[in-house]
Amino acid sequence: MRIVLLGAPGSGKGTQAKLLVDKYKIPQISTGDLLRAAVAARTELGKKAKAVMEAGQLVSDDIVLGIIQERLAKPDSKGGFILDGFPRNIPQAQALDAMLARLGQPLQLALLVDVDDAVLMKRLTGRRNCGSCGAIYNIYFSPPRTPGKCDHCGGILQHRSDDNEETVRNRLKVYHEQTSPLVSYYKAQGKLRTVRGVGGIGDIFRNICTVIESQIRPLAAVMGQIGASLAAKSKAAKAKKAAAKPVSVVKTKPKKAAKKKAKKKAVKKKAVKKVARKTKARKPVKKTKTKKGKKAKKTK
Ligand code: AMP
Repeated sequence: MRIVLLGAPGSGKGTQAKLLVDKYKIPQISTGDLLRAAVAARTELGKKAKAVMEAGQLVSDDIVLGIIQERLAKPDSKGGFILDGFPRNIPQAQALDAMLARLGQPLQLALLVDVDDAVLMKRLTGRRNCGSCGAIYNIYFSPPRTPGKCDHCGGILQHRSDDNEETVRNRLKVYHEQTSPLVSYYKAQGKLRTVRGVGGIGDIFRNICTVIESQIRPLAAVMGQIGASLAAKSKAAKAKKAAAKPVSVVKTKPKKAAKKKAKKKAVKKKAVKKVARKTKARKPVKKTKTKKGKKAKKTK
């Protein structure tokens, strides 16, 4: 299963991606997470990306494509993946298509999680993450019981540095300018499906799964059914053949022999009749001939 999750920052695609990982056992590949890990580890790449990320701008395509190429080459991506936060613009989408074409594993679905900007603003500026267990809260919609503390493990809740109001505005602007054209890009490929990203997380997840099952799974299901029915048919045919073999030997042999015998008998009968007819026909001729001959001789 090869899926791209599209959606503005704060649309909840990261949360949904995690649920999909659990259900379908394929990895979530989030360029945002990979970049944040590089920033935290203070790698060369992280140093380059930090300032750009804090300004709410997009990190250069070169850097992001390098990260993605490396990640897709890992063995756990072979069975499929959920791309979250990538691609972010048309050149990245084209590069991804080329990469996947080389692997012979084209994208199957681009799923847009659609949420209005006003909701996104509250979701992002109110978002808090547990630094220990990763649980996500929102001070407006799903606050922790004790402000600043995780309900599950008591860990300290953190506010992402790019979740402040100014950066969020910038991120949404960048999304509309650079990322939303991907909606038309994937629509043109016939791969786009949209799910409303408001309401309960479980309800949104169910809608996403319905789309996935109808878009990707039916093919697998149909292929599976065809395979199974072909296998069953060939198994049944083999069994029938095996069961019929000894019987047919017994049945056909005497049948054939009887037929042959009957034919032979009929031919013999015919021959006998023919001979009999000939003899019958010849005898009186001979007699008459002799008689006639004798008579003729006598008359002469
Ligand atoms: P995210 O967690 O997906 O919202 O990403 C956080 C930040 O990482 C973004 O605001 C960008 O600065 C950067 N980033 C993540 N993914 C990409 C990408 N595909 N291309 C460019 N920059 C990205």
